[in-house]
Amino acid sequence: MKCSYCNMQAIAWEPAVRRQYCNNHYAWFIERKVEKTIEKYKLLQGVRKLVIAVSGGKDSVALLRILHKLYDGKIKLLGVTIDLGIDQYSREASMIALKHYKELSIDYICVDLKEEYGFTISYIKMNKRVLRLHRSICSLCGTVKRYVLNKIASEENADAIATGHNMNDLLYQIIASMISGSREDLGKALLKTPSRNGLVSRIKPLAFLSDKQTLLYNMAIDSVFFWKSCPYAEQGTLKRDVLDALDSIEHKHPGFKESLLVNFLKLVESTKQATTGIVYKCKRCGMPTNKPDICAFCKLRETLLERIKT
Ligand code: SF4
Ligand code: ZN
Ligand code: ZN
Repeated sequence: MKCSYCNMQAIAWEPAVRRQYCNNHYAWFIERKVEKTIEKYKLLQGVRKLVIAVSGGKDSVALLRILHKLYDGKIKLLGVTIDLGIDQYSREASMIALKHYKELSIDYICVDLKEEYGFTISYIKMNKRVLRLHRSICSLCGTVKRYVLNKIASEENADAIATGHNMNDLLYQIIASMISGSREDLGKALLKTPSRNGLVSRIKPLAFLSDKQTLLYNMAIDSVFFWKSCPYAEQGTLKRDVLDALDSIEHKHPGFKESLLVNFLKLVESTKQATTGIVYKCKRCGMPTNKPDICAFCKLRETLLERIKT
């Protein structure tokens, strides 16, 4: 199988555009796709300094590599990695993120949750029941990651935070917001949320890439990523079932997922429903929160530290 653009061996077939690609042309195809997303949805409008959240996994490594290729020298890029304290898993993932920062000579900040805040995600996981924390470990971990990223971006005067959420993540978020009826969940399905009251704008440049595309992109540019799953990743969840159903439709109707996302975004834009929830200031740490008293992170941290003391 030859590349549709040159004589090289093809490594990927893209059914939606009916083309096959060699390594070089595949990297070009994916970078153009991300660039078009950024331009169409004005993700980097007014952004002079950008935090890039890098866990070391395939999506965040692809995000870092693509944004560096497209914007190095035009926008100030700052990589941020959080060591969540999930034993060996977090250490190995963080090492990969560091390797990329060094290779690309990108400024970075690595936060060790235990050193900085006195607890780890493993600690939460082990004590969840005793602490009467009823949310799933991934939801609690999400609160922690969002908080830490926002705090660093604020302190560093960054204009936005880019995360490696891909098309599957966004499509699931759309469906989750319909199930929960929550405006906050709906906000998480948007490609860009504005900065307001200390909450730094968040952007998702990989919104139109599938899991397979970010994987192939890394392979095409010969980039190392952390491939192990988190030991706490939840199996057999509603998310998995929803994504399997969407994938099976996509298989029969190539382009279905992309048009679902495009049309959803058009609908939200036209009805102006997005992210107009009130933002309060946390009475403990002063960071933005949707709760009128103390933020979810400070509440979680207080519960954990009280428990650690006893
Ligand atoms: Fe955190 Fe869940 Fe991701 Fe593990 S799988 S890093 S617990 S969000
Ligand atoms: Zn080619
Ligand atoms: Zn707080």
